[in-house]
Amino acid sequence: MSMKQYEFWFVVGSQFLYGPEVLDTVAARAAEMTDALNASGNLPCRLVYKVTAKTNKEISDVVRDANHDPACAGLVTWCHTFSPSKMWINGLAALQKPWCHFATQYNRDIPNDEIDMDFMNLNQAAHGDREHGFIGARLRAPRKVIAGFWRDEAVQKRLGSWMRAAVGAAFSKELKVMRFGDNMREVAVTEGDKVEVQAKLGWQVNTWPVGQLVETMDAVTDAEIDALMDEYRAQYDFATDDLDTVRYQAREEIAMKKMLDAEGCMAFSNTFQDLYGMRQLPGLASQHLMAQGYGYGGEGDWKVAAMTAVLKAMSEGQTGGTAFMEDYTYHLEPGNEYSLGAHMLEVCPSVAAARPRIEVHPLGIGDREPPARLVFEGHEGSAIVVSLIDMGGRLRLICQDIECVKPIMEMPNLPVARVMWRAMPDLATGVECWITAGGAHHTVLSYDVTAEQMRDWARMMDIEFVHITKDTTLEALEHDLFLSDLAWKLK
Ligand code: MN
Repeated sequence: MSMKQYEFWFVVGSQFLYGPEVLDTVAARAAEMTDALNASGNLPCRLVYKVTAKTNKEISDVVRDANHDPACAGLVTWCHTFSPSKMWINGLAALQKPWCHFATQYNRDIPNDEIDMDFMNLNQAAHGDREHGFIGARLRAPRKVIAGFWRDEAVQKRLGSWMRAAVGAAFSKELKVMRFGDNMREVAVTEGDKVEVQAKLGWQVNTWPVGQLVETMDAVTDAEIDALMDEYRAQYDFATDDLDTVRYQAREEIAMKKMLDAEGCMAFSNTFQDLYGMRQLPGLASQHLMAQGYGYGGEGDWKVAAMTAVLKAMSEGQTGGTAFMEDYTYHLEPGNEYSLGAHMLEVCPSVAAARPRIEVHPLGIGDREPPARLVFEGHEGSAIVVSLIDMGGRLRLICQDIECVKPIMEMPNLPVARVMWRAMPDLATGVECWITAGGAHHTVLSYDVTAEQMRDWARMMDIEFVHITKDTTLEALEHDLFLSDLAWKLK
């Protein structure tokens, strides 16, 4: 399902105490607010006003329907009036979808002349939402709390941002990952518990033989390759005359896409150690698939492949870009420190600053023919890098804020796509924090998805979240990791 096909249900809490007139007013205002939020352009998905709930049954009914409706990606609740929260316990205990408590208020200002006890009885979200907040805390229910005036653009955008995280959760629950071959031999961080990941995140991670991919490649027609070559020409510059090599990448891409689509997989991994029967490691092929929304992970790294797909789903329709990435090497000049991210081939062109070039160069690793790949620089801007690791018994999501820059040198002999950035809080501290937390060398780099969205997503998936920011110190991080380790062992 695409972003626009998901909807969120608006459930407003109240009770019978105030009489039908107040309840009618609450319902009318809830519908008005829903229409205005949908018309604002700040929500990526439709908000649907469902009910002004006054009983345990009404709440349990709407939660049951939300749980069973694949189009419903989450619940947004609010208490215009006071809604005694014992009536919410059964519903919230059964809720299986992400929940946002929207602590807003119909009126922006206190009306000086008009305010009397009738006004107070109708407009009491300030304490209605606290009763609602208590039951969320008491039930230890994972939830997002967003406070502010519903017509305020910044508040609407925060709600929209949370919706994207919730779509990431819905996407995750359905995600299938295709592994071509196993993980690179002896590597630890790309391993993981596929049963735990499926139970927690929903990912179905399975293997298909490289031989089947080769058979599928053999069946690709020249006409299919011609059509994809036209697409390459429309989007990329050809900085090579070796069209046979580019056509071979097209053959690989078409075959991989056929296998992915036949199984409904939105992410895939492969490894240069298992290319039996293939002439080239897929480079351009994997890059162009990523540009279409598929997640990719090198060296059999199915976790980063899946995370790339999840972040791409969360940022659908946005234009900053999201890519599979690897920390490669540092520039340690004092006062001018940078990380250089790249991969042996496969960085997604969605992060390119300018039109990518197709080039053909030898690959020192993997014992195959020189592959075609896209070469480009990443653009400037604030971004995050994200790594999901398996701590044994639980998953940890590590997110670091970074500031991407135009690479400070041209690196004319570097034959791969590259992104250069300043890691927060500074390179040395950032590296110390990342390594202390156990973050992988592979990451997802995104200019679109925010750290707050990753925090929201981690809460929805019930996994640990570690955030390295401009304010992070190693001492505080170590303390948090120590306490977190204890807490997650008890959980
Ligand atoms: Mn790698």
